[in-house]
Amino acid sequence: MKMSIQQLFRPDVQAMQAYHVADATGLIKLDAMENPYRLPEALRAELGRTLADVALNRYPDPHGGSLKPALKAAFGIPAAADVILGNGSDEIITLITQALAAPEAVVMALEPSFVMYKLNAQFSRVPYVGVPLNADFTLNLPATLAAIAQHQPAVIFVAYPNNPTGPRFARAEVEAILDAAPGLVVVDEAYQAFADDSFIGLAGSHERLIVMRTLSKLGLAGLRLGYAAGHPATIAQLDKIRPPYNINVLTQAAAGFALQHLAVFDAQAAELRRERTALAVALGEMAVLTVFPSEANFLTVRVPDAAALFAALKQAGILIKNLHGYHPLLDNCLRITVGSPDENKAVLAAITTYFA
Ligand code: PMP
Repeated sequence: MKMSIQQLFRPDVQAMQAYHVADATGLIKLDAMENPYRLPEALRAELGRTLADVALNRYPDPHGGSLKPALKAAFGIPAAADVILGNGSDEIITLITQALAAPEAVVMALEPSFVMYKLNAQFSRVPYVGVPLNADFTLNLPATLAAIAQHQPAVIFVAYPNNPTGPRFARAEVEAILDAAPGLVVVDEAYQAFADDSFIGLAGSHERLIVMRTLSKLGLAGLRLGYAAGHPATIAQLDKIRPPYNINVLTQAAAGFALQHLAVFDAQAAELRRERTALAVALGEMAVLTVFPSEANFLTVRVPDAAALFAALKQAGILIKNLHGYHPLLDNCLRITVGSPDENKAVLAAITTYFA
């Protein structure tokens, strides 16, 4: 007898909703922390020639070819650290969660934070514990240390700076988590290009520390390349469950090319930081609105009615992210990705008009 869909799939999977990505057709897209800039014209042509030479008939180098040494050199990854590559840092979160000693292992994250930590715990059927941040989105260290002592997490994810809130936690507090944690500590530095501090210098020196990053926010979200640096003994375990060809040949070639032109991306990141500051100042002048500090390429704001402002901006042709409903601490919060100067002017004008 054939099995029904209900019999085939885990009940918890059947109860899940697929990850929703909003349709941005025709809209100014400020919802997903993308870099607004494409590659400069001359580099595009050069990249085209590079990609044309790639052997598409062959499987990719399972170890990423020359990418790991290039990443180590470009981003100051210590010699003592090994690197694992992922199809976006999303995949590295999946690998870490899958490799844990289920079913007892606990995944812990601060909340609100990046939703994939919790979702991956659910996918891998390991218990998940979320520790709320303070209302101003700073880290609640006493509550976090108490939760670590109580639940003994196999892994704790700390986004540094944090999405979807913006602030970077105090370094000493993350160090305190590292001291107290019995298991892995993943410092997720997805927004490092826009931040003032990093744990990359400690990668490799500490068996339980994994510093995870991505090229996505730097301007290469379409490539899907994430990487994590850590102690060789830790990275070796994760590498066993990595699909051998997870980084395709075009991504390997294009990422290698991009790393040779890092100055272009660094200049864009510097401009986005300046734009972030200008937008934060301008929005901060509106009394109805609370702007949270941000070391990422987005600003999270609290408004009287997030759904109404979200709808008004969409009407004005701008897509941002409505965070209301994701977590009680995000009540009436919106997340605005910092875009190009013109895009930021447009969003500022639309918000000003809305409150006028
Ligand atoms: N970590 C954080 C904190 C994020 O916000 C995101 C993307 N929004 C990711 C990881 C995943 O990025 P990617 O898969 O594009 O590398």
